Amino acid sequence: MTTKPAAAAARATVYGYPRQGPNRELKKAIEGYWKGRVGADGLRTAAAALRRDNWRQLADAGIHEVPTGDFSYYDHVLDTSVMVGAVPERHRQAVVGDALAGYFAMARGTQDVAPLEMTKWFDTNYHYLVPELGPGTAFTADSTKQVAEVREALALGHTPRPVLVGPVTYLLLAKGAPGAPADFEPLSLLDRLLPVYADVLADLRAAGAAWVQLDEPALVQDRTRGELDAADRAYRFLGALTDRPKLLVASYFDRLGEALPVLAKAPVEGLALDFTGAAAANLDDLAAVGGLPGKRLVAGVVDGRNIWINDLEKSLATLGTLLGLAGQVDVAASCSLLHVPLDTAAETDLDPQVLRWLAFARQKTAEIATLARGLSEGTEAIADRIAANRADLADRAASPVTRDPAVRDRAAAVTAADARRSLPYAERAAAQRAHLELPLLPTTTIGSFPQTTELRTARADLRAGRIDRAGYEERIKAEIGEVIAFQEKTGLDVLVHGEPERNDMVQYFAEQLTGYFATQHGWVQSYGTRYVRPPILAGDISRPAPMTVRWTSYAQSLTDRPVKGMLTGPVTMLAWSFVRDDQPLGETARQVALALRDEVADLEAAGTSVIQVDEPALRETLPLRAADRPAYLAWATEAFRLTTAGVRPGTQIHTHMCYAEFGDIVQAIDDLDADVISLEAARSRMQVARELAAHGYPREAGPGVYDIHSPRVPDAEEAAQLLRAGLAAIPAERLWVNPDCGLKTRGWPETRASLENLVTAARTVRAEL
Ligand code: GLN
Ligand code: ZN
Repeated sequence: MTTKPAAAAARATVYGYPRQGPNRELKKAIEGYWKGRVGADGLRTAAAALRRDNWRQLADAGIHEVPTGDFSYYDHVLDTSVMVGAVPERHRQAVVGDALAGYFAMARGTQDVAPLEMTKWFDTNYHYLVPELGPGTAFTADSTKQVAEVREALALGHTPRPVLVGPVTYLLLAKGAPGAPADFEPLSLLDRLLPVYADVLADLRAAGAAWVQLDEPALVQDRTRGELDAADRAYRFLGALTDRPKLLVASYFDRLGEALPVLAKAPVEGLALDFTGAAAANLDDLAAVGGLPGKRLVAGVVDGRNIWINDLEKSLATLGTLLGLAGQVDVAASCSLLHVPLDTAAETDLDPQVLRWLAFARQKTAEIATLARGLSEGTEAIADRIAANRADLADRAASPVTRDPAVRDRAAAVTAADARRSLPYAERAAAQRAHLELPLLPTTTIGSFPQTTELRTARADLRAGRIDRAGYEERIKAEIGEVIAFQEKTGLDVLVHGEPERNDMVQYFAEQLTGYFATQHGWVQSYGTRYVRPPILAGDISRPAPMTVRWTSYAQSLTDRPVKGMLTGPVTMLAWSFVRDDQPLGETARQVALALRDEVADLEAAGTSVIQVDEPALRETLPLRAADRPAYLAWATEAFRLTTAGVRPGTQIHTHMCYAEFGDIVQAIDDLDADVISLEAARSRMQVARELAAHGYPREAGPGVYDIHSPRVPDAEEAAQLLRAGLAAIPAERLWVNPDCGLKTRGWPETRASLENLVTAARTVRAEL
């Protein structure tokens, strides 16, 4: 295939870059500042050095326009709140006293004031701080940070393009401040917010920015007519300003859909669209609205949130089609590169063959620059790159890592019966009752017990060779012994082994499954200074040996009470990993499910009568558009059932999810056909119990009575009151007593006291039945 050179040279650009630095220097500087080891100036210097290195890296790779303002000490939505002066009353004083300290007070709270709420950024694992707005919010422009970064980049010889959260997305992500009327809609503040954006845009122009990018990812979600009209009004207003840079409105994570015609006809100079995955529908949609004649189209053809190398020829074909649809076509990643690790070159432990299939942020920028060059100069100019890319793609497709015939044959042979328990719930419940002999309102926990410094030290000691495997396992056994003894003494009914051997609930399994790879330095920001290293699900998944049986069996050998086996479910295994993009997610989930099904069978064979399969990610990977949800929920619930349905009727399957808002997936929860589900409920005062009841949920449930997100110890009466509220919705025969989530982040003293109170509460309420 050959592409003719474009009329105007295509530019290469990105919307954002990993913030942390090659050795997480930013984390060290910020945490040092919090502990008082690094001064404010030291922190600023460290941050400026990281920005400088990032821009240099981008420019050297051939990126023409570098992003500014995407850098953040904590979160870019928080930065936007500061930029528009939306500082909650309770943080005002701190901000006025010391801007940096005030900023972190909004992010993390202080001894006296609560932080802003944190939630997931669309369907990624990045978390942002939710703006708190009310009818009285008065916005004021503070462009200090944005202007400073433009100046910094200019002084270093770069062409900066400031990236801001757009006004519509900002308001759509906000929530009513405490005390705001229940029906308050942040979007009603749009007309008050727009003049503030106008001020910022004028400042950025004065600072020397030729273009500004306004990110509007919220417009890829289902939007009401009113919200689309708000977007229309916003960009008419901003477009009509005279003192402003050129405007690039960016969308990502999905297709723009009905928002596309709105933005295409807005009086702005450019539009950035995602053309990866399902968002490729943007191509036809763009043609249908007649393209963007005379405007700039930034084409996100390189997947910004997964780690696979790009198919350069496929991207060039897309770009070639787009040339006919816009005045100027530039090349970018689909979204900020914040969501991928920095550099594959740091991965010295990975199989070099697999390494050639991977592109982290640094490799992606090179791909973008190559594509821009191919688009500008014709494909001959990048012929060597294309040849190498084709070879790598072919190698990946043909590798035994990605195709294991045994795994494929087994997945293809799955029947509907494999995903169905042998008896309906009512009959299973009777068998389980007879087998387990539990009291009414049985008590249990969600799985993990405190991950103490001793446990972390033991893991570090093992890694550093200071202790051997046997020494490490002795420490784990000792911990399991203590956890079992504590639970027996406290009087819990269904015990757990405490998960002391697990570094992370996904990584622990990924390390033992064939087809998964771990990285050494593949850090991705989750929130603030918290970074995670998602494993890479690269190939066909199989389980060479049991993964959990010996620990569960060891725990069971110490007690007569049932010990619950503990697994991470297939959907969560996918959601918290980088997943292969060469087959539908449902197929990958089915492979993981079959591997886990074997683990379930082995646990059962070893005498485990209660097995919990955690799916905390079931809701967070829900597609952004409602139309895409039924298909997702179908494969997701099938994968869970495939994992669990092979057990005997008397074996009790539990599942766990940790969020209080699940109205949109209550049917899917029902479709899991688990015998018992535990959910977060303490903060919402058992709202989930009422929602389950309203849905007619027929099985057992344990709405949490202990909020584990805080060190606070609920007293027995408080837990008893929550239980009584649960009983008002769910009959005693089907109600369990448990905390909201696992206890791994808690300390022992509060865990001990809280679980004692939980058991006391269960006994008190049982006596009232
Ligand atoms: N079993 C896990 C634990 O207790 C569940 C964690 C989670 O829901 N995120 O830690
Ligand atoms: Zn949980």
